Amino acid sequence: MKHHVHRYFVPDSLQNYNHLVVAGDKAASIDPFNWDLALAEAERLGVTLTEIWLTHGHGDHVAGVPKHFAGPVRGHPDTASRVNLTDPLTGGEKLAFNGCPVEVLATPGHTFDHLCFFLPRIPALIAGDTLFNAGVGNTRSGDTDTLFCSIQALRQLPGDTHLYNGHDYMPTNVRFTESIIGETATTQAWAEACTTTDESTRPVTTLAQEAELNLFLRTDDANLIKALELPDDAPEQQVFRKLRERRDQW
Ligand SMILES: [Zn+2]
Repeated sequence: MKHHVHRYFVPDSLQNYNHLVVAGDKAASIDPFNWDLALAEAERLGVTLTEIWLTHGHGDHVAGVPKHFAGPVRGHPDTASRVNLTDPLTGGEKLAFNGCPVEVLATPGHTFDHLCFFLPRIPALIAGDTLFNAGVGNTRSGDTDTLFCSIQALRQLPGDTHLYNGHDYMPTNVRFTESIIGETATTQAWAEACTTTDESTRPVTTLAQEAELNLFLRTDDANLIKALELPDDAPEQQVFRKLRERRDQW
């Protein structure tokens, strides 16, 4: 059965991206911000929404979950206070969505209820607010050291994995990257890609591309450690923490 991820930008949101995981004639709606929009996208693709998957409980990720839905609503138990969750997940589960294998990953840090969905056959990662283009989620309602551990786990996924995250932060995060390490061939290429695209046409990166661009995946990079004015032998966790602080203050 053929499957793929359909990304669409949500107008009048906090720059949110929503996704449909399409498998044959069925689709799962991830973090719907607006249910009518999810239905319209499904109709455009000629598929039926049969499941809802939630990465975490922040309002802008659950706003569109309908009160009554015939299929499973999957997410972390701590997300259940905000929605009518039917199928709790805590990470480590392997699902098959209409023939499409799905691995549920516990990725706390941005929030403590955060899950990512890895689709190994595509391969694709539905990353919610954990890993962004050239950035990571904030930790205002989570914990930075916990997020560091989750990011290390995501670094182990195959490099050709396509990264689908919850917001279009690429232009801002590329500018932040340059504020830390200056312009490089890599940052210039992505800055250029931002100027020739908009929210709807922004490129979908791979984890290999993020490993080049994303400073939060480069916490062992000597140039970065120097730019942050940390000792040469600073542990990666400390580099990550400092980088998150700088992004919060930026
Ligand atoms: Zn969030």
